[in-house]
Amino acid sequence: MEAIFEKLEKLNQHFRTSSSQPENERFLQRIVKLNEEVGELCEAALCEVDKDQRKKDKLIDFDAELADVIICALMLSTGREVDINLEIHKKLDKVLNRFNIE
Ligand SMILES: [Mg+2]
Repeated sequence: MEAIFEKLEKLNQHFRTSSSQPENERFLQRIVKLNEEVGELCEAALCEVDKDQRKKDKLIDFDAELADVIICALMLSTGREVDINLEIHKKLDKVLNRFNIE
């Protein structure tokens, strides 16, 4: 996971230095991009369960779309004060606890 966060940070640095876009605008743009990727993931899920949905001219890869969603979601964590690793651990512990799983 550490290597992934290093790559995300490099990407974030690139976007910050190659554009004068304000941070709040970039943040909103990333939220919109995340929604776009979620839409693509939904389309891929439909194709997984119903092959007739598949577009003949377009290869749809559910796992690649899932990776896009995860990357976009994690990009939202770059440059923030809170450690997203810690937040994910806290959330997972909460869910495990809810189901009495140790
Ligand atoms: Mg995508």
